[in-house]
Amino acid sequence: MTGKVYLVGAGPGAPDLLTVRAAEILSRADVVLHDALVHPETLALARKAQVYAVGKRSGRHSTAQKFISKRLIDSARRFDTVVRLKGGDPLLFGRAHEEIQALRRAGIEFEIVPGVTAASAAGAELGVSLTRRGVARSVAFVTPRSGVGERHNDWAASVLAADTAVIYMGAGLAEEIRAVLLDRGKGPHTPVVLVENASLPGRNVHRGTLADLPDLARRMGSGPAVLLIGEALETSIAEPAVEALLRRA
Ligand code: SAH
Repeated sequence: MTGKVYLVGAGPGAPDLLTVRAAEILSRADVVLHDALVHPETLALARKAQVYAVGKRSGRHSTAQKFISKRLIDSARRFDTVVRLKGGDPLLFGRAHEEIQALRRAGIEFEIVPGVTAASAAGAELGVSLTRRGVARSVAFVTPRSGVGERHNDWAASVLAADTAVIYMGAGLAEEIRAVLLDRGKGPHTPVVLVENASLPGRNVHRGTLADLPDLARRMGSGPAVLLIGEALETSIAEPAVEALLRRA
């Protein structure tokens, strides 16, 4: 008898943005393999599990993907409940495909538990809807990063085609993103917002236009950040206004 592997979304950072289903599975997990950005309080829910960090942050692949997949399979052969805990939603920029393929090939049962993705947490931070009637009817989740030997990534085409674009793992590529989008005809006055550490106490928001993007990026810290682009961001309530509203409530 082999166990079951759960690919679980841990949400964007705040431990109370975990789903009830994820919390229940963690509470009975035997083994947890988690990414770098998972909150310690979330890991603490895995009361009886052996917990291992197998984290990768962009550009720093501390544990090779193949090794993680192999570890999942080995764990499922020894334990009942194995959790692979990933930041945000496991199906967005989380290498879930490689793990799903490996589990399928090994004949191991698995289940996916969705999580709150960084784009949703960033929109919530800003108090803006990513879609808006008459203004934004499409949202693209995009990354400009691609690995060595991968198919050409025309991320800019997706940004141009969507009314609102959320760029993951792009904060370090601000110069390139601005240059490519301006060159491809995106207006320099298009609203742009960088949201760092969405849902966490170290949250940081920088608003501007596409033309300002590199300056905005220079003001950021070293936390994970998404970049949102599009007219729907125009009416984002300024941070002081949100704070004033909260104080009155
Ligand atoms: N599966 C994750 C994304 C993993 S890729 C999800 O669904 O959110 C890692 C990237 O996600 C980071 O480089 C950053 O762009 C974004 N990210 C993750 N957590 C974030 C947070 N709390 N605030 C802003 N961006 C975040």
